[in-house]
Amino acid sequence: MTAQLPSRDLAADQAIAALATQSQPRVSDAEMRQAVRTLLIGLGEDPDREGLLDTPKRVVKALKFLTSGYNQSLDELLNGAVFHEDTNEMVLVRDIDLFSSCEHHILPILGRAHVAYIPNGKVIGLSKVARICEMYARRLQVQERLTAQIADALQGLLQPQGVAVVVEATHMCMVMRGVQKSGSWTVTSAMKGAFADDARTRQEFMSLIRHSPGFH
Ligand SMILES: [Zn+2]
Repeated sequence: MTAQLPSRDLAADQAIAALATQSQPRVSDAEMRQAVRTLLIGLGEDPDREGLLDTPKRVVKALKFLTSGYNQSLDELLNGAVFHEDTNEMVLVRDIDLFSSCEHHILPILGRAHVAYIPNGKVIGLSKVARICEMYARRLQVQERLTAQIADALQGLLQPQGVAVVVEATHMCMVMRGVQKSGSWTVTSAMKGAFADDARTRQEFMSLIRHSPGFH
């Protein structure tokens, strides 16, 4: 039986507050558009030619969307949707599409996350797991931190018996430039509680998400 909690306990509230990241823009949209215009000139382009006239506006809008996770918090994202549930079975959400941006080049990181936890009296809706991944992905990231933040968020929200997060991703800054390894996938993981302590639990998770990396 599932019932919505009337109110969260204090520890959960504090955990959520600690995980929230809010930022206020310190420059105007006009200043941001001007910066993109400067970049275009620096690249040898004419920002006043027809095809580029609206590019600064579009780039600012796109970048704001791709980093909109800065303006979200776990609290508003979950909207109280933490439920009591007496189950000790692993909850696994696999193949969550991830679209993030690397903080070194502001180029795309594309991949998938697999997220599991073993409840300890509390669960959240499965769609919320994907929304948590999306919130952290929509920030400038390194893959290791993204992976850890997803795990920390679930740990803080649910205090479960264990959390496991595996992220597989390909980085456009590697694929399109530099080493140009188009087939390279980076795999990162964060294991907490039972997944860190118990090899069998970890193996069960790893076997459930096993497949060859790549888009298909
Ligand atoms: Zn990069």
